[in-house]
Amino acid sequence: MVRWITYLLLLFSPLTALAGEEINVYSARQEHLIRPLLDDFTAKSGITVNLLTGDADQLLARLRSEQAATPADVLLTSDVGRLLAAKAEGMLQPLASPVLDANIPLALRDPEHMWFGLTLRARVIFYAKDRVKPSELSTYEALAEPVWRKRLCIRSSGNVYNQSLLAALILNVGAQNAEAWASGIVANMARRPQGGDRDQIRAVAAGQCDVALANTYYYGGLLTSSDPADRAAAAAVGLYWPDQQGRGAHVNISGAGVLRHAPHPAAARAFLEYLSGAEAQGLYAALNHEHPVHPGTATSPLLDSWGAFKSDPLPLWRLGQESKNALRMFDRVGWR
Ligand code: FE
Repeated sequence: MVRWITYLLLLFSPLTALAGEEINVYSARQEHLIRPLLDDFTAKSGITVNLLTGDADQLLARLRSEQAATPADVLLTSDVGRLLAAKAEGMLQPLASPVLDANIPLALRDPEHMWFGLTLRARVIFYAKDRVKPSELSTYEALAEPVWRKRLCIRSSGNVYNQSLLAALILNVGAQNAEAWASGIVANMARRPQGGDRDQIRAVAAGQCDVALANTYYYGGLLTSSDPADRAAAAAVGLYWPDQQGRGAHVNISGAGVLRHAPHPAAARAFLEYLSGAEAQGLYAALNHEHPVHPGTATSPLLDSWGAFKSDPLPLWRLGQESKNALRMFDRVGWR
């Protein structure tokens, strides 16, 4: 009897039908951020996930050299810029999935179904609570005004998050205005760009600058850090959602695509569908302080404490058109 029930379950459950399979995931996301998700997926599906983690650019180079011989089924990475690069190089295959289409808004996935946003992060303004009033803040554009001269910290232009931010600005306000903005930001830098996003928030707390631009989840990481110095730094800094009266905060994604030569495409599809589901989205929020791609999905008490926000509706696939222009623009204005 039990055997019959098991047989029927296998027959009618699309997930368990793949039990015993395995998939190979090339991940630019650190293992500790996604391990609980992988374990939960394996428990539910019976599919084993083999993870190879590495720097995003190294993983892309590896895929380039492995070509059709790659064991990789899925590429998991942050920033749409890298997913656009993988698509442009023909590394991905389309995945028609009503589940992914229903769970992920159109602006956060590839219209040709090659990649899918799985978490949302905003690039927002952080300010020194003791020196800046939120009422002094408004838009990204306003940060380029002379009132912020030598008061701003932001990381280097070599970073893909800044490249995507400038590409979005070019699309939203035009190349000329975007270049004037980048030039104003350079004039307002309190120091030469150095360090990562966390370091910009720490520098605000340390008094090296009054405002900074950084991704939201880094602030979450500092607020919940095991290091008391980081918790104290984050407590001295406030999060401001830019441009809420206008187009909204600039957002980006971490996401995934199924590789063109994936040996296990059906299991890879089940994996992506799982990651887009409500439970996995909640885990991302709790583990890494990233917002769900699907608005209305449960987040975490910490994310809720930052309040609801309006995000720029610009479809992320459009950033690809402008990423090279953004790089040249950074060079012209002297943004190191
Ligand atoms: Fe990051």
